[in-house]
Amino acid sequence: MRYCSQCGSGVTLTVPEGDNMPRHVCAECGTIHYQNPKIVVGCIPEWGDQLLLCKRAIEPRYGLWTLPAGFMENGETVQQGAARETLEEAQAQVEVGALYALFNLPHINQVYMLFRARLPAPEYGPGAESLETQLMSESEIPWDEIAFPVIHESLQLYFRDRATGRFPLRTGSIRRLEGQARRYEVLIEDNAA
Ligand code: ZN
Repeated sequence: MRYCSQCGSGVTLTVPEGDNMPRHVCAECGTIHYQNPKIVVGCIPEWGDQLLLCKRAIEPRYGLWTLPAGFMENGETVQQGAARETLEEAQAQVEVGALYALFNLPHINQVYMLFRARLPAPEYGPGAESLETQLMSESEIPWDEIAFPVIHESLQLYFRDRATGRFPLRTGSIRRLEGQARRYEVLIEDNAA
């Protein structure tokens, strides 16, 4: 950030009085521009033993597969956001169920929340941000063409849990390893304890 969105003056990075982190502060009007993590909400849409995946039509990771998910908007709940993203990216109406996966992505300041969701009918199609949408059984998942580590990890946990018939909330953190573009450290918390 270089300019104040309130008055247009230049901002400086400084620790405000009573704070302990550097913030962008406007010297002219005094506004402190806080920056906080963004919430990404999405669905794991189920139809029988198949899941609905989307092939991305946008960067990053153009042409790779993902679950319908995107940034939460102001004025909506996380469930509403997950359903909206599924409608936008996969043209599918869903009944949003339980929260299944919550992942911290501290290296990009995001928190992912993925909900299990039921398709009332196998009706779907590519939205503006998707090249293609497809129902896939576990054996059809293109594991080497999944767009994001958080989706890869969530799908693996999902199929492992499905084999046991139970879907406890899975939580964890994924961070990019320093200096390694596509290498990640994945930490899954043991919620059974
Ligand atoms: Zn200002």
